[in-house]
Amino acid sequence: MARYTDSVCRQCRRENQKLFLKGDKCYSEKCCVSRRPYPPGQHGQGRKKPSEYGIQLREKQKARRYYGVLEGQFRKYFNMATAMGGQTGVNLLSLLERRLDNVVYRMGYAMSRPEARQLVSHGHFMVDGRRVTVPSFLVKPGMVVAVRQKSRTLEKFKFLFEANASHPVPNWISPDRDKHQASITALPTREDVDFPIEEQMIVELYSK
Ligand code: SF4
Repeated sequence: MARYTDSVCRQCRRENQKLFLKGDKCYSEKCCVSRRPYPPGQHGQGRKKPSEYGIQLREKQKARRYYGVLEGQFRKYFNMATAMGGQTGVNLLSLLERRLDNVVYRMGYAMSRPEARQLVSHGHFMVDGRRVTVPSFLVKPGMVVAVRQKSRTLEKFKFLFEANASHPVPNWISPDRDKHQASITALPTREDVDFPIEEQMIVELYSK
């Protein structure tokens, strides 16, 4: 399976925005966006005003990188969002939010989305009592996402349980911290996406 292998901090610098891909480092002075707030590469500090296409492209790349999705899969989400009817951009963000790796991150059981993706792939989470190892699995209202019983005794999870005891969760997720699980109570809405993104730009880009 294809995956991104370059420095993840370069992605943030390219989008000139924190994408929170590194956990603790993102909140420290070591964050590369804070230290070098210009695009990477030889011409990073000398780029001209972007075109309309360039702005739309950056919005799409920003969303894609924030949720850790490759181009082909992102296009599939866009096609699904179009087929759903209603506002395509909002549907797209809702689909991205419903990914299991994002839910695990939102629940506070990973320090970043890339870490959540890895924890899901390694089989540490159950959905409705069944182990799911697919980070792109889409949750639905009524489903219960839980840390696997066997994984709860691992040092890694003991640390995460303590570190994220008061982690804020969005309205559509109802956590039960004692049971190390959370119920999905609704579909995520536009208001639940707390990341500055102009989804209409992505719709315009793909509609060309
Ligand atoms: Fe992005 Fe985090 Fe790296 Fe900062 S530390 S550039 S927010 S991945």
